[in-house]
Amino acid sequence: MADYTFEDWKARAAALNFRNQAFIDGKFVDAASGKTFESINPATGEVLAHVAECDEEDVNRAVAAARTAFEDGRWSRQAPGERKAVMLKLADLIRENLEEFALLDSLDMGKLVQDAVTVDAPGSAHFFQWYAEAIDKIYDEVAPTGPGDLAIVKRVPLGVVGAVTPWNFPLDMATWKGAAALAAGNSFVLKPAEQSPLSALRLAELAVEAGMPEGVFNVVPGFGVGAGKALGLHMDVDCLAFTGSTGIGKMFMQYSGQSNLKQVWPETGGKSPNLIFADCDDLDKAADMAAFGIFFNQGEVCSANSRIYVERSIAQEFADKMIARAQAMQPGNPLDPASKSGAIVNERQTQGIMRFVEEGKKTATLAAGGERVTVDGKGCFVQPTVFVDVAHSDPLARDEIFGPVVSIIPFDTEAEAVAMANDSIYGLAASVWTENLSRALRVSENLFAGTVSVNTMDALSAQTPFGGMKQSGFGRDLSLHSIDKYTALKTTWVKYQT
Ligand code: NAD
Ligand code: MN
Repeated sequence: MADYTFEDWKARAAALNFRNQAFIDGKFVDAASGKTFESINPATGEVLAHVAECDEEDVNRAVAAARTAFEDGRWSRQAPGERKAVMLKLADLIRENLEEFALLDSLDMGKLVQDAVTVDAPGSAHFFQWYAEAIDKIYDEVAPTGPGDLAIVKRVPLGVVGAVTPWNFPLDMATWKGAAALAAGNSFVLKPAEQSPLSALRLAELAVEAGMPEGVFNVVPGFGVGAGKALGLHMDVDCLAFTGSTGIGKMFMQYSGQSNLKQVWPETGGKSPNLIFADCDDLDKAADMAAFGIFFNQGEVCSANSRIYVERSIAQEFADKMIARAQAMQPGNPLDPASKSGAIVNERQTQGIMRFVEEGKKTATLAAGGERVTVDGKGCFVQPTVFVDVAHSDPLARDEIFGPVVSIIPFDTEAEAVAMANDSIYGLAASVWTENLSRALRVSENLFAGTVSVNTMDALSAQTPFGGMKQSGFGRDLSLHSIDKYTALKTTWVKYQT
């Protein structure tokens, strides 16, 4: 990995050429209405690009192109090895353009470019490669029927898969949906978040460059009410993969009921608990990881470990460690590799986070951070913030803040810790820190969450499913299981002479 400098990133940013039109049927096109919206850099307030604002008419065009592509088989009926070669090439092209992808997401939504170039962009390449490699290794089934009957059970692509994604990991969310849906042979229509449409447009362009036929991968930038809703209500979209807030996830379920009963896979909010037991043998490591778990990506992470439950005998010691780490992670210019945290995605999100902080100060003790700040006199930045003496019932400890704000809550018994951890409408992720093996397994078993990380944080890989329980939704991204979302089981039953 190259060592980048601040100057280097600024020069690369100045030389960028943004794709700002919709990508439909393999071509960049304006919205039919001619409308555009501003894509803003939250670290500076500058307008990066005027991006095509797609609405129902553009969604119709994209879905029609995707349907035609699906039905003529240019992708859906290609040999597995051919689809694999194209997606491997796409993974290579992402790697060749790693710095550009890192910059697009950093400039568009404020994340540290250093994180984007080491985590987000290589992650996208890795996931495309992983699903590409899977394409010619997944076998179908023959049912145990008996002589004279051959019942073949195959997984077949659904047709047109729509995806509506959030702004916190723009490239990776497009990838998590797209790589699996495309590997399965579907056509794909993506509506990226209006705060961060730029990387998805570049990704679709590179897919065609990699050899993906035109019309297979389409991108319709625009707003939720507009392009997002049109995709959700479309009569010719077979499946809608959503990542975003719980409220909008529920709306997509309704859109499906109001239209064609398309499958909907919501992956929604979280309020993930992190349980620290006194028998944890490396509290410094636990604190390092807890700080990463809440402050990485400015806390704009669906699985962010925003509630830390600490056994009372070590609660003060642990809080002191968290305070020190929060204070060491002051926001800086997202393009400066020395910065420890970046910008909040926009003004609205920043104000929302600050409302939680202001209300929180009335009921809990602010122990670190808590201020909105600027960098070079500009932008949307919030200090990493730690609250202590937080009541479990406090909104600080219950609501998804989606910012760099963590609550530390002491507990006395294991049962109490588990009960508080599970007392949430969400169930996305959880962490447990203990050296006691029985406790680790017992607590993990009792926690209601899609992923429980033991003595680590936010464990995640291409090989393991990611998603939630309860109102964190029920879609699973990553792993071979996510292929299930984008395929249907089809039985072909043949009678033959024995
Ligand atoms: P959001 O729900 O506001 O927006 C997500 C997407 O939905 C955007 O593309 C948006 O344009 C679209 N949308 C908004 N309103 C719509 C409507 N009425 N009809 C159709 N589409 C609409 O969420 P956000 O603020 O962009 O992202 C933050 C949320 O995403 C948080 O709640 C976070 O927990 C969640 N998230 C979840 C995961 C996960 O995997 N579970 C991952 C990342 C983010
Ligand atoms: Mn933006």
